Amino acid sequence: MSAGSVSKSKRLLNNVSFVLMLSGLPLLVWFSQISVLHYDGAPAFRDASFWRHAAKLELVVLAVYLGWLLFQAGMYHFLPGATEAGQPLEDGSRLNYTLNGLTSFVATTALWLALHFFGIVPGTWIYRHLGELFVAANVVVFPLCAYFFFLGRSQAADTERHSNVLEAFFVGAARNPRNGTLDWKFFCESRPGLTLWVLVAWSSAIHQYERFGFISNAMVLTCFFITLYIVDYYVHEDAILTTWDIVHEPFGWMLCWGSLVYVPFFYPLAAVWLAERPYVLPAWAVFAILVMGITGYVIFRQSNIQKHRFRKNPHTRIWGQAPAYIQTRRGTKLLTSGWWGVASHANYLGDLLLSLAMCAVVGTGTVFGYSYFLSFVPLLIHRDWRDDRHCAAKYGEDWTAYRKKVRWHILPGVY
Ligand code: NDP
Repeated sequence: MSAGSVSKSKRLLNNVSFVLMLSGLPLLVWFSQISVLHYDGAPAFRDASFWRHAAKLELVVLAVYLGWLLFQAGMYHFLPGATEAGQPLEDGSRLNYTLNGLTSFVATTALWLALHFFGIVPGTWIYRHLGELFVAANVVVFPLCAYFFFLGRSQAADTERHSNVLEAFFVGAARNPRNGTLDWKFFCESRPGLTLWVLVAWSSAIHQYERFGFISNAMVLTCFFITLYIVDYYVHEDAILTTWDIVHEPFGWMLCWGSLVYVPFFYPLAAVWLAERPYVLPAWAVFAILVMGITGYVIFRQSNIQKHRFRKNPHTRIWGQAPAYIQTRRGTKLLTSGWWGVASHANYLGDLLLSLAMCAVVGTGTVFGYSYFLSFVPLLIHRDWRDDRHCAAKYGEDWTAYRKKVRWHILPGVY
């Protein structure tokens, strides 16, 4: 087979996988949501009445969702926050980011709780309109992605341009599309979707309370870990600026739809399932889930902050000692101590343990309760593989030396 026909069939395969993901992922979230809300969390296969449960587009809900995005954008723009420079771009320049995520999160949740306690908008509104919200979010986000596609194409550097339109739409046409100071990738990744994830969980908890008169320990645990994860994200918002997404990833459907739709409607399905089932876990299960979640959180937080601080100041001590590293020919230093000496992505291990703790609260009740964890495992393995290839291409022999020193990818002894 000639090189031309190999690259042709590779392109065809890529295009098929883009189309499958563009259609399959929304269908997966939609199917899972209906199964949880209407079929007791059992996969809703072969039921003739399945379609009747599909939510329709409601104009009021659509307006609420649009208002939600505008409200978050308004807070991003107007609330005070430190300005931090991102990592150097290929041309040596740096982009500035406004770090007001925590203030924005506190203002949003305080307003949401006030609306509930003053009887203006019931806290259960989100839970009761979950299907319609999901439809509205898709109706808004798909055209938004088309806008980002055109904006990205007009702003992309030569090295970022994809000739394939489908690929440019799916993966993204530019790395940092912006309107003025509004950085779309940073905003979409870190604001509306993540805060909505928390609110979907809290709204489910309020529904459980109103229906059964108490909030079960399973619900408390999943809400606790979700809230911890998101508050932590905002507290360490500056650390996001050295992550793979912000530094290297173009902004397209994958990140935009993923952050605005997939995260808030797929990740909290354990809490959504528990809303109608006041599942009480035995003490040993509470203990086991707490240990797993907190261990995961500590690994996740420490590893990410170690790299972030090291990148800002290579003399920062790690676990009480001067950091060990490989000085690359490109000038960058690759950390080999702390968690970065244990595995090249110990941060993924911590994240996975934490995600399992958020999901395991449903016990054997429903597989959809594990949607976050089950989708997160392949996502992070694939991400690790991509990052490894990226670093190998970028650092060459220095990366080979790093891999010799740090053999494991995520879980020492296994992978
Ligand atoms: P990382 O924060 O792990 O960043 C990877 C980059 O760090 C590499 O591309 C490289 O960039 C640099 N790097 C790699 N090895 C070293 C080293 N030894 N020393 C110094 N720098 C190094 O990637 P992610 O953005 O994927 O992950 C960040 C966090 O976000 C993780 O905890 C992850 O679990 C989480 N996450 C959560 C998601 C969710 O849906 N909940 C989705 C995705 C991620 P360079 O080119 O600059 O050297």
